[in-house]
Amino acid sequence: MRKLIAGNWKMNGFVSSQAEIEALKGLTGSAACDIVVCPPFTLIDRAVERARESHLVIGAQDCHAQACGAHTGDVSAEMLADAGVRYIILGHSERRMSYGEDNDIVLAKAIAAHRAGLIAIICVGETRHERDEGRAIEVVGDQLSGSIPQGANSANLVIAYEPVWAIGTGLVPTSEQIEEVHSAIRRLLEERMGRDGSLVKILYGGSVKASNAPAIFGLSNVNGALVGGASLKASEFAGIISAAG
Ligand code: 13P
Repeated sequence: MRKLIAGNWKMNGFVSSQAEIEALKGLTGSAACDIVVCPPFTLIDRAVERARESHLVIGAQDCHAQACGAHTGDVSAEMLADAGVRYIILGHSERRMSYGEDNDIVLAKAIAAHRAGLIAIICVGETRHERDEGRAIEVVGDQLSGSIPQGANSANLVIAYEPVWAIGTGLVPTSEQIEEVHSAIRRLLEERMGRDGSLVKILYGGSVKASNAPAIFGLSNVNGALVGGASLKASEFAGIISAAG
């Protein structure tokens, strides 16, 4: 399966950071994987402009569940689609924790993403405490069952497994731990969607960098990466992209 490398800039980036988009654009033509960059809302319009006529695709980091209305500070999936966005990251642990986004909210947002014709990257992952209790698979399974909309398929859904304890910490699960969770996710997707479930991309996220990417990409059922910190520097992100094939 063609790998997908997605960069999540989180709350980073100024107009001056557009040079990063320019640098990445040059890489996308020859890359053997799909490349998505998800800048903050303020940069989306400019990023879409810059990425035009390249294979670089722009995504967003969140959306509101409704299409429009009196929701101060929010942005809808329809508005993002209108701006040229193709992917939306949903259910990131930082939003689940800081904003109390539970599976119902993530599900409503994923429905909104699909309604707007966008691809939902739904994030799942256990905390350190949940892993220590031996509940990683159970937690990830509950998040998946609760947040994937009816009608989801391999063309409009991507799953990102991001263990909370591996995000921004430099800690990466063992190969066995990653394969165990990714194969459990694959089984669940196949149970839900039949054969199409085997085509849904499952990304790994959490302290991915150019040096550990080759080993991670060699694991079964790892179809790419959702990259935080290392996506902010085009040269480091380029190393991850080249590891993807
Ligand atoms: P880091 O790559 O900085 O660990 O962040 C991962 C992440 O949260 C991507 O969504």
